[in-house]
Amino acid sequence: MNSSENYSSMSLSEQTNKQDRIIGAYIGLAIGDALGATTEFMTPNEIIHQYGIHRNIIGGGWLRLKPGQVTDDTEMSLALGQSIIDNQGVVSTAVAQAFSDWMRTKPIDIGNTVRRGIVHYRTSENPVVNDNKYDAGNGACMRALPVAIFHCNSSFKILKKASKSQSHTTHNNTVADAGTEIILKMLVSAFNGQDKNSLEKSAHELVKNFPEYRYDKRKIENPSGWIVETLQSVFQAFFTHNNFEDILIDVVNRGGDADTTGAIAGMLAGACFGKKAIPIEWYNKLDANVKDACIKQAIDLFLLSERELIIS
Ligand code: MN
Ligand code: MN
Repeated sequence: MNSSENYSSMSLSEQTNKQDRIIGAYIGLAIGDALGATTEFMTPNEIIHQYGIHRNIIGGGWLRLKPGQVTDDTEMSLALGQSIIDNQGVVSTAVAQAFSDWMRTKPIDIGNTVRRGIVHYRTSENPVVNDNKYDAGNGACMRALPVAIFHCNSSFKILKKASKSQSHTTHNNTVADAGTEIILKMLVSAFNGQDKNSLEKSAHELVKNFPEYRYDKRKIENPSGWIVETLQSVFQAFFTHNNFEDILIDVVNRGGDADTTGAIAGMLAGACFGKKAIPIEWYNKLDANVKDACIKQAIDLFLLSERELIIS
């Protein structure tokens, strides 16, 4: 038996598929962000008037982006992921420092709760913000993907702990934590080859524990940055359609916080269907530097997760 066979009980082709799904999730996040930024803060009616159906990566939007440019959702994910690589784990002080360094680059957009958390860290040197019932924004969830990749062989207990370590640098709220943790659980399940039905079990588990997340009633349009509405619209789109393109088009045409619903739906769809399922026109339009950074980081985190498996 050569040493590489010790890495995992998965076969080589299963490992290849797993890596394809992990890269798919990271590219999916960036594509959802770039596609949705065009319709961020628009209503569905405004979108219909201006675009009919918004289906191309064309930039613009309130941030006046170049086609293929991404926003804070992708940039904060890359900052978080690099801190996990540098520290071989999710270390809250390092995460807060990475976000602080990112804010110094004068990002094109930044959420209010994120800004407040970073300022809190700079002034107090405490990487953990106080818990706050009003901080149930989606800002910690939108950037959480690197935690799922690094911990794709860990238990849900470890995953939840790591999730809180990164989330609480800016958002410390029970409802937001629960939503983010379930998204991470769904991502890990998808990486490991589970189908959409078993992912929906996780969504149902969330609804059971936090009924405000129920997503089987009215169609959520114009979803706000409140994580409950964000995830309701993501779940509705994700569980209605069976391919990457339809899921993304559905969710970004609801407007509202469309870059973030796009980012979260994109990571889930990419994790489920793999990089090969991403439409080539979208893949080609994504900013080349962002694409390279996402792929490289996805692979680095994946290799680190395999090493974690040997150590444990
Ligand atoms: Mn954004
Ligand atoms: Mn947003």
